[in-house]
Amino acid sequence: MRTLAHILDVAQAAQLPLRRTSRASEYRSHCPFCHDDARHWHLYLSASKDAYYCHRCGAHGGVIQFYATLHELSFAQAKERLYPAGKTRKRHPAESLSPEDLKRLGFLSKPWVRPPHLSEREWQTYRQHCLDWIWSAWKDHETWERAFTERMERHFRACDERASLKHVE
Ligand SMILES: [Zn+2]
Repeated sequence: MRTLAHILDVAQAAQLPLRRTSRASEYRSHCPFCHDDARHWHLYLSASKDAYYCHRCGAHGGVIQFYATLHELSFAQAKERLYPAGKTRKRHPAESLSPEDLKRLGFLSKPWVRPPHLSEREWQTYRQHCLDWIWSAWKDHETWERAFTERMERHFRACDERASLKHVE
């Protein structure tokens, strides 16, 4: 079983805005390849075909080509990133967290192995929920850590300023 990478996910990860068109599963966006400006929506994305086409510069292709052009990779490199060797499904971003990262979040093991009482389908659903959950916990953690670091930096800057004032006196 092979789950394809979705072109809309790739577009969203690259922070391209998406706008529905009148056709089902078709979206428009700014073309990142010909630097379509914010007023124009020349890039068409098909969610059902996982394909793209720009009505301005003519750039077109499937999801791997899209990913390759966006990230300036060769087709083979893009394919390897989207479909890592030996893995037939798309990697969840939470899967790239290290065991230390997971421990910091309070997760002791990776939910990577299917318990025998779940069917493959139930397992995929369960696993997806776990990964989404871990990923959102990680994002929160990062936000917290960033805020903490900024607070500490402000604190140290204030200390430094006080120290240099004293030095001048
Ligand atoms: Zn274009």
